Amino acid sequence: MATTTFTKKALGTETVEPALTPPSAKAPPLPKKPKPSGSKSKKRDIPEGLWTKCPKCTTMVYDKELDENLKVCPKCHHHFPISSRERIHSLVETCTFEEMDADMTSVDVLNFNGVATYKAKLEEYQKSTTLKDAVITGLCKVGAHRAALGVMDFDFLGGSMGSVVGEKLTRLIERATAKELPVIIISTSGGARMYEGMFSLMQMAKTSAALAYHAQHRQPYISVLTHPTTAGVMASFASLGDLILAEPGAMIGFAGPRVIKDTTQAELPPGFQTAEFLLDHGLIDAIVPRKEMKPRLIEYLDYLTVRQKAAAAAT
Ligand SMILES: [Zn+2]
Repeated sequence: MATTTFTKKALGTETVEPALTPPSAKAPPLPKKPKPSGSKSKKRDIPEGLWTKCPKCTTMVYDKELDENLKVCPKCHHHFPISSRERIHSLVETCTFEEMDADMTSVDVLNFNGVATYKAKLEEYQKSTTLKDAVITGLCKVGAHRAALGVMDFDFLGGSMGSVVGEKLTRLIERATAKELPVIIISTSGGARMYEGMFSLMQMAKTSAALAYHAQHRQPYISVLTHPTTAGVMASFASLGDLILAEPGAMIGFAGPRVIKDTTQAELPPGFQTAEFLLDHGLIDAIVPRKEMKPRLIEYLDYLTVRQKAAAAAT
């Protein structure tokens, strides 16, 4: 014990020249010092913003290569988050996307005031994402098919569904029903937007009702779940697809694992709430890698609209 205190004192006095103190086993604070300088020299070699480290396989991927690969790791196929605009670009035919309700923005009905006001949050995210809210909707062409497409964006307040997300999606679905078009919605969301209280929860019923009406008119709806799709969005329109697809490795669920574990008092199986687990248990119909998404959507639309084509040909 006495020796320990001695070495500590000795180290304390010699902090000016740490490299000269030899006791390697007894100097936890000292090895830490070279680390920042080491990482600094790495930063000098690799300019910031050009490379991204894959969180799954830790490979450094050149950003340009990552973009060309639709934000999928070329080594382990980890699917990085992708913005709504990039997603639309990857799915629709060039220059065919006609955006709907582009300027619709949320109103702070409840005068919500927490750590920050809702108004301040909205302004902050509108600035950082250049989006007006967490979904982009519009009519477009996917392959030869005219379709109504809604794409959510997790970067805008966690892709949360407030009145604007609900209203834009409902208008999209209603337009599709009127024009007899298939609906495709690409979801990613943390759930309902709690800044809007019950108004956000009502969007679950509103979007679901619009989809029920769409189904009554025998028009197809394909739901695509991407990482993560949870809570109020998963409990409404995201799980109502005639076909439900998911990207590999996507986290999909309602409540978080900890809440479920506490409520059920049971051990959760491994891989719980992943796309792969849910495919095995029948909640989703297929896992489609991002690069295959467009051809697969076209294939499914070919199949789902066969009857309409036959009816059109007969008249
Ligand atoms: Zn990887």
